[in-house]
Parts: sequence; structure tokens; C-alpha cells
Amino acid sequence: MAGRVVVVGGGLAGAKTAEALRESGHDGGIVLLEAGAELPYERPPLSKGYLQGTEERSSVFVHDEDWYREHDVDLRLGVRASALDLAGRDVVDASGERHGFEHLVLATGSAPRTLDVPGAELHGVVYLRTLGDSDALRAELAAGRRVVVIGGGWIGLEVAAAARTAGCSTTVLVRDALPLRGVLGARMAQHFADLHRAHGVDMRVQVDVARLLASADGARVAAVELTDGSRIEADLVVVGIGAAPRVELARAAGLAVDDGVLVDASLRTADPRVLAVGDIARAAHPFLGTHVRVEHWATALNQPATAAATILGRDAPYDELPYFFTDQFDLGMEYVGWVGPAGFDEVVVRGDESTLELVSFWLRDGRVVAGMNVNVWDVVDDITALIRSRATVDLAALADPGAALADLV
Ligand code: NAP
Repeated sequence: MAGRVVVVGGGLAGAKTAEALRESGHDGGIVLLEAGAELPYERPPLSKGYLQGTEERSSVFVHDEDWYREHDVDLRLGVRASALDLAGRDVVDASGERHGFEHLVLATGSAPRTLDVPGAELHGVVYLRTLGDSDALRAELAAGRRVVVIGGGWIGLEVAAAARTAGCSTTVLVRDALPLRGVLGARMAQHFADLHRAHGVDMRVQVDVARLLASADGARVAAVELTDGSRIEADLVVVGIGAAPRVELARAAGLAVDDGVLVDASLRTADPRVLAVGDIARAAHPFLGTHVRVEHWATALNQPATAAATILGRDAPYDELPYFFTDQFDLGMEYVGWVGPAGFDEVVVRGDESTLELVSFWLRDGRVVAGMNVNVWDVVDDITALIRSRATVDLAALADPGAALADLV
């Protein structure tokens, strides 16, 4: 088994781990176990361009099938890991086959949280996590259909934008006073609510779902009933109420799990031969000075290079700032940084809030901790440098589009 790496989970993080190992010169075996039937793929298009039919199916795959063969990566689709034998250095799959490893990388990702109300199991109540889910949803988004989206997070808003763009009558149900308020704060969250309403989405806030009602023949969902007794008719209900890291294997194997698999900045668990990457990794972050777990594409994309370096005995701690992006209607945005539990005490906006061409900064104690560019491009590096400088910034200059961000560092 010398040098053999087993990667559990064939999503973006798993595939990129295999790629990073080969790019870094690892010449031992690589086994990539994936329970699903598809080649590893990227998820952002599933709720954006692919869902809307503007991106080809072929564009979502990390690599084509030949790549795995050419790089001697033993991609085992349809193989579900069911246990980790850390003492014996084996991954046991559902058929009982053992996959011996020198190093193990856990890249098991997350699973959608399920709605727990009567009627949630009805036909026509769907989730969006997999490529197959995206295909099925895409087939349902036809003009005139009534779509109710439960949850005002990233899935909820991106699906609502796709549904509305497809001509569906679209309602979004948000428990909070604004969608995305927990992530963006009220001022910026308001813009997302306004954007959706301007495009005809019925955005209902401070509402909660009591139950889902079936059609007269019981065949599928027909309405959503709220806790205030009101009903919204629906041909399709999309549930986007968050995700939970898939940590069952790690926990059962005795690895430390606390809202994710705890790893150091080199992405190692307490067992130095076992690493975790992507959605499940709650990693010590050198710059942020705390453990962070980030359920976004960029983490799955970038952490694997660190995992490969760690396996090859090189020191390359993962220190990238959290980053994510979204596209909704005519709005494109990127966000970099970390507000964290300590929160922010100020928001500074440079640009035009009325046309939604702006950069928004979140500050704590006079320092920028996160920034978001909306319909403004090529500023992420400058925002990142500003955050990393920990400089106390001049607020007037920060708000002034004429002052170069690079000069504020
Ligand atoms: P999310 O972004 O965490 O949002 C979930 C939302 O659902 C929250 O606003 C939460 O609000 C709400 N919620 C929770 N329980 C609810 C309930 N019972 N009824 C109504 N609302 C409820 O999760 P997501 O949108 O489901 O996305 C799943 C994962 O995919 C996340 O990890 C997300 O980061 C990722 N994703 C990212 C992107 C992107 O980066 N652009 C796009 C799509 C998906 P409360 O505050 O009320 O709990």
C-alpha cells in the first residue's frame, strides 16, 4: 500500500485532491470512491447556468473520463464507503471490499437538510443537490407553472431566479425578515429582496411552513400552508433550507467532529494520515485565528492543493480567505472574507446602491473583515489585500470610488 491515497467522495474536492496529488508529483496509487454514478462535477452551475439551460452538461464535469485513466486515478463510481478502519488503514465499502491506504482524504461533502412538516414527502417536493436533481428541476421549470421555494438562502434565491426567468410564477418563503440577512446583514440583504421583487418574485418574509397539501387525487403537492393558515397554490415546491456536513464516517471512526471534521491548517485530523477537505473540513485558519468551515465551491476547489502538499510532506497551510459568488437575474456578485461570530459594526458602500453597482465592506473595529462586489469586477484581490492588511481604514476613502483600494492598505 506504499504511498496509496484513498479519497472518499467524488465531488469537486475529491476530484481536485486526485488532480493536486498528480500535479504535485505523487506517483503512488490514488483511489477515488464515489457513491453516485456521475463523474465528479462542479455544483455552482446546477443552480445557475446549467439549471437555466445556458451551460452545457459537459461543462459541469471536473474532468472527462479519459483524464482519470490517463492520470492513473482509480475512479470507482457507485461505490459507497461504509466504514473507516483507521487502525487497519482500510476503507470498507458497502459491498465489504477493503481499500487499503497510506493516506485517507475525506471529501464527503454535505447533504441537504430535509423539511420536517406533514406532506414533505409528496411528489413534487424537490431538493437541489445533485446533477440529477438539477436535471429534474430544469424539466419542471416551464412557463406558467407555480413554483414555491422554501428557504431564502443561496439555493432558494438562485432557484427562484431560474424559475422566474423560465416564466414560472414564483414565491419564496423566508422565515427571517430578509433573505440572506444572516450572511449579508440587513442593508445588503434588502437589495436581494428588492431585486427579486423587481423581477416579479413574490418574496414573503417572516413566514413559516406548517404543512404541504396534496392534490385531490393525492398524486402530488398542490399547496403550501403557512403557520398563519394562509395557503399558496403550488405545482412544484423546492426546498433549500441548508445543508449539513456528511460526517458520519468520520464520527463512527472516532475522529473529532464538531460542526465538521476538525482539522489543522494542513487539513490533518488528529490521525496524521487522515485528512478532510471541502464542506466537511472545519479547519484551523492561520489568518482568521479560529477554525472555520466554509460550504462553498472555492473551498472545495482550493483546499485540495494543501491536502496534496500535506500528504507529500510539504508545508503549505490552507490560508485562503472564504470566497463565494452568485448570479441572480442581472446581478453578479463575489464575496470574500469572514465576518464570523464576532460580527461587524459598520457597513461601508462604495458605488451606487440604486443601480446595484457597488462594493460593500463589512468592518469591525475600523478594519475591513469582508467585502462584496456587486456588478463590479476585478476587485477581489484588492479587497483581499485590504482584509489581510488588518489596516484601520479611512472610511471616507473606502466609500470613495475615486480612491484606489490598493492605496488604502
Ligand atoms: P443556506 O444558504 O444555508 O440557506 C438556507 C436558508 O434556509 C437559510 O436562510 C435558513 O434561514 C433557511 N431555513 C432553514 N430552515 C428552514 C425552514 N425549516 N424553513 C424555512 N427556511 C429555513 O443553504 P441552501 O441555500 O440550502 O444551500 C445549501 C448549500 O449549498 C449551502 O452550503 C450553500 O452555501 C451552498 N450553495 C452555495 C451557493 C453559492 O455559493 N452561490 C449556491 C447554492 C448553494 P434561517 O436563518 O431561518 O435558518
